[in-house]
Formats: sequence, C-alpha cells, structure tokens
Amino acid sequence: MSFNALVVTKDEDSGKTSAAVTQISESDLPQGDVTVAVEYSTVNYKDGLCIGPGGGLVRNYPHVPGIDFAGTVEESSDARYKPGDKVVLTGWRVGEAHWGGYAQKARVKADWLVPLPEGLDTRQTMAVGTAGFTAMLAIMALEDGGLKPGAGPVLVTGAAGGVGSVAVSILAKLGYEVAAVTGRPETGDYLKDLGATQIVPREDLTEVTKKPLEAEQWSGCIDAVAGAMLGRVLKQMKYGTSVAAIGLAGGAPIEGALITPFILRGVNLLGIDSVMQPYARRVEAWKRIASDLPMEKLEAMIQPATLSDLPQLGHDILKGKVKGRVVVDVN
Ligand code: NDP
Repeated sequence: MSFNALVVTKDEDSGKTSAAVTQISESDLPQGDVTVAVEYSTVNYKDGLCIGPGGGLVRNYPHVPGIDFAGTVEESSDARYKPGDKVVLTGWRVGEAHWGGYAQKARVKADWLVPLPEGLDTRQTMAVGTAGFTAMLAIMALEDGGLKPGAGPVLVTGAAGGVGSVAVSILAKLGYEVAAVTGRPETGDYLKDLGATQIVPREDLTEVTKKPLEAEQWSGCIDAVAGAMLGRVLKQMKYGTSVAAIGLAGGAPIEGALITPFILRGVNLLGIDSVMQPYARRVEAWKRIASDLPMEKLEAMIQPATLSDLPQLGHDILKGKVKGRVVVDVN
C-alpha cells in the first residue's frame, strides 16, 4: 500500500535539490524496529535546511525530511512498544541522516521514541515539537543553575520564533518576568499575549561593542540567536546568572564576546542540545511541558499546514519569517 511523503531528490549533474509530495510504499522505508503511522510533524529551522539544499545535514538522496513527529505505533518488534501506542520522536538525526516525519509512515529505532506525554495529544505534542522541547530543556538547565522567579527579567531572544514562543509562555506561567527580543515589531502583541512583560527591539542588541561589561539587567537568558546578540547579552547578565544557548539564528560566531562577564560576574554559558538527550531527561522534559505550558497559549502559536505547504515553509523558516509553531497534518 502506498502513502504520501515529502521526498527531496537531488539532480546529480547540477547538484540542485527539489522537494515534492510523492507516493512511496512501506518497502521504501529505512530499517528500524517500530513502524509509526505519523499524525503530525512540524517545521523547525533544521527542517528548512533539509527541505532545501541540505546544509550538510542530509547524507543520501532521495530523502524524507521531518526532524520530529507524533503518531501511533502500527508495528513493533521491540517489547517497549505495541500497536496502538501513541509516541513522539525528536532528535537522533531523524529527518537528517535517517528518513523523518514528513510522511504518513515512518520506521525508526525504538530507542529514539518516547511515549506521548500524559495530558497532550499528538497535535499538541507537535505544536511543541523539537523547538518547544528545547525551550523546556533550556528552562530546566537555568533552574538547575539556580534561576528562581523574583530575581529580575529573563531575556528570550528570537522570541517570536518556535523556541522563543514556547520559552516565553512557559517562563510566564512559572511566574517569571519575561523580556522578549524580536526583530519583528508587529509581533509585540502576540508576545505580550504569550506572557512577555517587555519587548526589546533586536537593534538594541546587535551592535558589536568593545565594552568589557554593561549594566546588569537579566536574571537568565534563553538565546536562540548567538552572533553579536549573545556577545552583548553576556555583558548584561546579572552577577552569577546563566545564559542557555540553544541556537544560532543570527550566526555561529559570538561576536564581540569577552571573558569579562565570566570572570568578573561569574556568568555561565550553558549549552543545550536536544538531539542526543538521554531518555530519562526527555521523559522529564515532556512531563514538565504538559504541566507548565498553558494549552491556550500553545493554540495561539499554531499555524496549520499540510505536506504540500512544506517547500514554501522550509524557505520561510530559513528567512526568519515563521511566527510561532507550524503544525503539519501529514494526512
Ligand atoms: P525560528 O526560525 O522559528 O526562530 C528563530 C528566531 O530567531 C526568528 O523567528 C527570529 O525571531 C530570530 N532571528 C532570525 N534571524 C535572525 C537574525 N539574523 N538575527 C537575530 N535574530 C534572528 O527557529 P527555531 O525557534 O525553531 O530555532 C531557533 C534556533 O535554535 C535555530 O538556530 C535552530 O537551529 C536552533 N535549535 C537548536 C536546537 C538544539 O538542540 N540546541 C533545537 C531546536 C532549534 P524574531 O523575529 O522574534 O526576532
């Protein structure tokens, strides 16, 4: 029986890739111990790369992208999962090195799956997706580093994007004052509705300066941007606080960064990786999402889509044009 998938092919002569909804069959799927009937997937920054020219992430073509999905187990040779179980997958290079969630079926390793968190359905789980899961990991890391409400505003950069939107909503629900950095002033009301108390224009934080330190402002930061912005933010952190670095939407180098915030203010830079997180931490993060992310705020972030919308959405997310979270109904 054939089913729909977004398949990316590469022209060997020109090296150009193109993505189109195509019929494939179960025998086309890669090896794995669990076959999942995918219900929803989503669009992350990495998906934009894999729908397009690959960004060095995709090993072989034809390729089915989709770095995360939620659905129902159809077949399993692993004792941990049986037909009918609801599951979610993020990370493990699925959608990059292994075929991913932009198809009505996916076959993966049982080790990569997590049971659907109690209290969330498959659509809500993908509204959260890798972006929201990463936002939760960042909040947990800041909490482990001593962050508590009442110490001053927590800064969220790239706030109107996927990671940022979920981070703003969860932090606000947990009682934090949230300062949201955006380059899109038109998203100000959206960010305030999610719980931001202060909107910081992107331009305020993009000039590279030689100052060793600036006035102490932030009690914590979730940074999706890096580049010049992270260089500035580090100098504005309060004494003994932490920045959780999750992304590089503004470029990989930390421009203008100096050692001064680390050695004079004891600031910490915490690296957050969602791809290789151990199983126990995944389960804990999903549990926290189910309890700490207000579902009405999640609904406000959702932009619905289908497989055929993906080529355009992949292009948009690379240009920083996607607001909140895209939920792809693959059926
Ligand atoms: P989105 O595109 O949804 O959000 C990124 C946001 O960053 C944009 O919406 C925009 O926010 C801001 N932005 C974009 N370009 C620039 C720029 N040139 N300068 C400053 N700000 C910019 O992506 P995601 O939220 O899904 O992912 C964010 C980052 O996190 C990406 O780099 C992604 O690769 C990374 N990531 C890392 C993970 C990990 O495991 N560590 C997991 C998931 C994502 P605004 O318009 O509000 O300014």
